[in-house]
Amino acid sequence: MNEKKKKTPKERREERERQKEGKRRREEEARICQRLTEPLRRFGYTIPAGSIPADLKEQAPNNSYGAPLYYEDIEFTCQDCGSEEIWTAEQQKWYYEIAKGPIQATAIRCRDCRRKEQERKEQSQLPKGYSKKTQ
Ligand SMILES: [Zn+2]
Repeated sequence: MNEKKKKTPKERREERERQKEGKRRREEEARICQRLTEPLRRFGYTIPAGSIPADLKEQAPNNSYGAPLYYEDIEFTCQDCGSEEIWTAEQQKWYYEIAKGPIQATAIRCRDCRRKEQERKEQSQLPKGYSKKTQ
């Protein structure tokens, strides 16, 4: 006998609840996205697909000239090693809104070169005759 296992009423109820919960969450996300982009649409801006709306009040204080309204992946060439890099929309949002990077700033170095540059700077801040310990 290969009887198909029937779902109990309880399991059916739980499954319905899960579906409702998923639907509710998707609607909530759509509402948030709508709220973030609505002010921009009102001013006639459109947000390219795949980009992230900017939260202008989280950006570092600026005269708002040239402040990005949204973030899109940016391709750039590392100025130190010449490698082709992508500064992703998520990284930009983090940089401008969490790290409060200046709005005029943009990525010019790849991750490796940024780290080397950082080390060089730290090194140069030490008094003459001293060097940073290497572990
Ligand atoms: Zn590089």
